[in-house]
Amino acid sequence: MSGRLYVISGPSGVGKSTVVQQLRNEIKDLAYSISYTSREPRENEMDGVHYHFVKRETFEKMIEEKAFVEWAEVYDALYGTSLDVLQDQMSQGLDVVLDIDSQGAVNVKKHFEESRLIYILPPSLDILGERLRGRGTDAEEVLRTRFEKALREIKRCVDYDYLVFNEEIDRAVKEIKCIILSDRVRRSRRLSMVEKIFNIPLSPK
Ligand code: 5GP
Repeated sequence: MSGRLYVISGPSGVGKSTVVQQLRNEIKDLAYSISYTSREPRENEMDGVHYHFVKRETFEKMIEEKAFVEWAEVYDALYGTSLDVLQDQMSQGLDVVLDIDSQGAVNVKKHFEESRLIYILPPSLDILGERLRGRGTDAEEVLRTRFEKALREIKRCVDYDYLVFNEEIDRAVKEIKCIILSDRVRRSRRLSMVEKIFNIPLSPK
């Protein structure tokens, strides 16, 4: 039985990585796809944990070798999802969560039709502004650019299957958990288990 992909995106500052981390802590057998990137690691980021950090030339070579199911240029750096790793995790029956941008999400869906695209939104414009501001002591101009970028990004939610507001982290996590866990009990994923347990051949209607 094959696992399923859950792609999570959202504008900068929406709290995506916290949501993803909490999902990984709370859901059993949920794998995470560690992306490749050409950007430099930030403080506290570890190679092979947060990303696989590679040189731009190495990344470009991997593109030529068709190593990525999708890749995109985000904020002047390249980011990509390894096809081999995804296929390996899914063939072990693991559901996999991906934290990638909206360009990547659409490309993953093209390749894996069954994947679920989940978009995380801030609950209001004011809160989006506050969260972007809360990241540091950036100049007004920088903040405005970031805000406009976030609004453009939010328009991409039309491509997603599920839209989750992150007003309160626990609630957002709970909603995404429901999506993932309800998929696990779908007939298409459970029939083979029933056949095995009860030793009866079953064919879906
Ligand atoms: P950051 O550099 O802040 O970790 O990530 C910047 C953006 O790149 C985020 O929106 C993140 O979701 C996105 N990103 C991370 N990994 C990938 C990937 O493998 N593919 C794509 N398309 N976007 C990614």
